[in-house]
Amino acid sequence: MTAAGAPTLIVVGGGGGGLCTAITAAQHGATVHLLDKQEQLGGMLHIANGEFSGAGSRRQREHGIDDDPRRHFDDVLRISHGKVDRELAWMSVSAQGETVDWLDDLGFQFDPATPGLIHGHEVYSVPRTYWGVEHGRSVLRVLLEQLAPLLESGRIVLHLRTAVTGLLTDSAGRVTGVRVQGPADTAERQLTADAVVLATGGYDADAALRNQFLPAHCSSVLIGCLDHATGDGLVMARELGAAVSADGIFLPVMGLIPDPGRPGHAVDYREAFVELAPAYRTPYEIWVNKRGERFVPEDTTSPELRERTLLEQPDVTMHVVFDQAAVDAAPVPLIRNPGGDWDSDRFARACRDSPWVTRADTLPGLARKLGVDPAALESTVNDYNAAVAAGADPHLGRTVLPAPIGAGPFYAVTSVAASILSRDGLRVNTDLSVLTESGEPIPGLYAVGEVLGNNVFAGDNYVGGMSITPAMTLGRHLGARLAAAGHDRSAA
Ligand SMILES: Cc1cc2nc3c(=O)[nH]c(=O)nc-3n(C[C@H](O)[C@H](O)[C@H](O)COP(=O)(O)OP(=O)(O)OC[C@H]3O[C@@H](n4cnc5c(N)ncnc54)[C@H](O)[C@@H]3O)c2cc1C
Repeated sequence: MTAAGAPTLIVVGGGGGGLCTAITAAQHGATVHLLDKQEQLGGMLHIANGEFSGAGSRRQREHGIDDDPRRHFDDVLRISHGKVDRELAWMSVSAQGETVDWLDDLGFQFDPATPGLIHGHEVYSVPRTYWGVEHGRSVLRVLLEQLAPLLESGRIVLHLRTAVTGLLTDSAGRVTGVRVQGPADTAERQLTADAVVLATGGYDADAALRNQFLPAHCSSVLIGCLDHATGDGLVMARELGAAVSADGIFLPVMGLIPDPGRPGHAVDYREAFVELAPAYRTPYEIWVNKRGERFVPEDTTSPELRERTLLEQPDVTMHVVFDQAAVDAAPVPLIRNPGGDWDSDRFARACRDSPWVTRADTLPGLARKLGVDPAALESTVNDYNAAVAAGADPHLGRTVLPAPIGAGPFYAVTSVAASILSRDGLRVNTDLSVLTESGEPIPGLYAVGEVLGNNVFAGDNYVGGMSITPAMTLGRHLGARLAAAGHDRSAA
């Protein structure tokens, strides 16, 4: 690059973070090599709910919702218990409304129910969460539309099925490019650029790497994300001396079902999960741990309470226990998916023959199949039925008590705590420069998206939209900044 010329960037990873970085950089004049080891772009957008958040958006105003980034940030601090990285989180939150407007301008297909409140995480004080009619893929759709002309003009050069295997540095320690292995490469080759952006996502698909960051008793949590999330960017940067957070924080996602065909993995979230949020479905069941004991009021409106309580249960495992009457009576099926193609009939069939459902004519028989003490399960069900009869649950305080668990056949769907996104990641400054252990920026190396770790934006909790939206928002910010740095070298 000449001092006044447009820079060449390498963006590693074409998920929401990398795509926004590459598109914005190219639109601001940079030449971008966008590399992804997968056959298709999109990363976790293919499976994600795609719920993003932003305050002060045009769409909020159109819906008569009074909001601003400061109130959004107050909510983020409340829900995250103040444990976010305040500078980076504010940098994102303060611009997230603009990201929403940008998607809106691009023709994003909002679900008509948005902006809405979501109940899968602790609830915001006003509706400021948005999602598309095709969830994460709605986001991907508009990003790919933006990408197309940039590919055509050559501003972005796309390298699919091309894994970045390492970072190149010069004698001064500046990152000058990457080592890659593409589909036609018989050996690794090198690609150089003025700056490299790591947008490689998280590490949760690599259980051994993930477990380095989890509390020891959580090592059996299910993998609930796509296979590409193997922490490559984190590992590569760590080899150069990059600092990686190790906060020891973990909160599971609940409701994922162990995949009988793939030990350690959850059934694909797009296929099925157990709906536990009472805002979306009245619970007709009880949840028991491996000792056959209930452990949390099944109607709690606090996702955080149920997630933290599950972490204290043996093998972070729960069985959702119900009878035939619940199958027949519950208006919304227990098993759902984001595509909405589970109905009561499909669920009833699953109860008869799915490997995800354990069934028996008697409660002791069900308990034995689950590996639970039969006497303990019977006692728990008797106590629950007494609570239903009395209209009060003295044990846990559940108030939604629609029916006893009475006659067989009896069923259970087992669910294990799952990890879907990485809590720890590369430490960066507000330039999104990757930092060394001593806090120095590694020249030429930047990072954006889940590779930063979700604790930066969500503290020790889940905060609505606070993974996808920072990935997109800071990606756009970084892309524009790095492109501008080509015209003003001092900013790089
Ligand atoms: C089931 C599920 C639901 C979710 N729902 C939401 C939600 O509603 N809201 C929200 O905010 N967050 C949600 N998330 C999290 C969110 O989807 C991710 O945190 C976010 O999309 C990550 O974006 P990213 O661009 O950083 O990484 P990714 O989307 O993971 O993209 C990383 C890309 O890098 C590529 N890559 C990795 N290593 C290499 C390498 N060595 N060489 C080349 N390419 C490489 C990968 O192939 C991939 O395409 C959800 C996650 C899951 C699993």
